[in-house]
Amino acid sequence: MTEQAKWNFDNSYTRLPQPFFARLKPNPVRSPKLVLFNEPLATALGLNGEALQQPEGVAVLAGNVIPEGGEALAQAYAGHQFGHFTMLGDGRALLIGEQITPDGNRFDIQLKGSGRTPFSRGGDGRAALGPMLREFLISEAMHALGIPTTRSLAVVTTGEEIWRETELPGAVLTRVAKSHLRVGTFQYAAGRGEVSDVKTLADYAIKRHYPELAESENPYLSLLEQVISRQAKLISQWQLVGFVHGVMNTDNMTISGETIDYGPCAFMDNYDPATVFSSIDTQGRYAYGNQPQIANWNLARFAETLVPLLAEDETKGVEMAQSAIEGFKGQYVSNWLAGMRKKLGLFNAEDGDKDFVEKLLRLMHEHEADYTNTFRLLTLGQPEKTAMNGAAEFSEWLEQWQQRQSRQAQTKDEAMKLMRTNNPAVIPRNHRVEEALAAAVDEEDDSLVKQLIAVLKEPYAYSEEQERYAEVPERCQHGYVTYCGT
Ligand code: AMP
Ligand code: MG
Repeated sequence: MTEQAKWNFDNSYTRLPQPFFARLKPNPVRSPKLVLFNEPLATALGLNGEALQQPEGVAVLAGNVIPEGGEALAQAYAGHQFGHFTMLGDGRALLIGEQITPDGNRFDIQLKGSGRTPFSRGGDGRAALGPMLREFLISEAMHALGIPTTRSLAVVTTGEEIWRETELPGAVLTRVAKSHLRVGTFQYAAGRGEVSDVKTLADYAIKRHYPELAESENPYLSLLEQVISRQAKLISQWQLVGFVHGVMNTDNMTISGETIDYGPCAFMDNYDPATVFSSIDTQGRYAYGNQPQIANWNLARFAETLVPLLAEDETKGVEMAQSAIEGFKGQYVSNWLAGMRKKLGLFNAEDGDKDFVEKLLRLMHEHEADYTNTFRLLTLGQPEKTAMNGAAEFSEWLEQWQQRQSRQAQTKDEAMKLMRTNNPAVIPRNHRVEEALAAAVDEEDDSLVKQLIAVLKEPYAYSEEQERYAEVPERCQHGYVTYCGT
């Protein structure tokens, strides 16, 4: 079987000191059944997709069998959850190994919903089908949008019911990630009070994600700067597509710069910085407009853990950490502005660009214009179809935009092409996602989920088929609420 599926595992995490993980045995489930499988991802990982979809392969994806070469473990980590520090760890996930791909890359293969671990606290270690399908769908959509993210290889139902507020079908998601190192992993190491643990972890992170930094003058400062710069880029990409993560706790922020943990996330419809979907985010801490600031706060927690490694003198270390953290905002804004220019077909930079973009956003806010569709309609040359049509200020803005474009060397056609590759024609619309998940969970009909996944594969295609998926929900759908689904 092992040869057939072509698992090719290494287990570098098991070579870290013991406190970083707990070894685990499989927690078999009754009758695994494959619901979704990501064939192109399997191929990219060097896996044999056909073999994996056979019962023996599915047994692995359900966590019933650990393939030869894999060493199952749960990772320890901590995290600030809604601002409060807690010791956590994989309470319902199992790392089965690190797949080494044919081109020599390394990816964690993690089963989510695979049963209890020493870190489960009061939880059952399980996951419900709906949220696992949701993670598959949205993480793959993010990938197609060109946004760094963990990927989804498969969803398997377990044949067991789990109890949330009601009885739900249980499921296991196979998550693929550059690693599962989080800000919270560093907080865990630092929280134990052993600087040597933080150093071991930082060396591991450098080796795994930023090997070129090992030679730099101060590798730990370089690590901090790199993570800041990856996150500044990542969050700008979220903002540019209107993605609301929903639970930006420090344990849900990666060192690799990948988006992780698709719990209560959702895409914003009408532009509003205060947009919150998560039922538990009652204070709006993780609202759309707060995401850059929260990322900055989380990175400051990361920096704190590295202080003892930055310099022998603590005051000096703190200064270095602070000055690195202060770099976040500028980097974020410049990434975001560069992305906005592309969304508006602008190739060059002018002084007034930020104000110009903010004016459009303000108008969108005032007129409750749909974020994605405004840019889509501008791309299609149909500004008259936006919710702002008829407003004098919008006409003025359009005029300014014309003039702004005419001041660049590129033709209108080139500008339009740039817009088409930067403004998605489709995003995972909340009502579409819900409709598809309801069919899969309530009717055991996964055709809508599969269709939606297919449509979201090429978000910049502007195909006829996609038009239906660009429709915004009825007004009564305002106030969409998401749940963590744990
Ligand atoms: P999350 O909200 O998914 O980021 O999870 C936060 C923490 O709660 C992590 O330590 C998870 O492993 C843990 N957790 C979430 N759901 C469960 C569950 N059903 N059983 C045990 N632990 C869980
Ligand atoms: Mg998490």
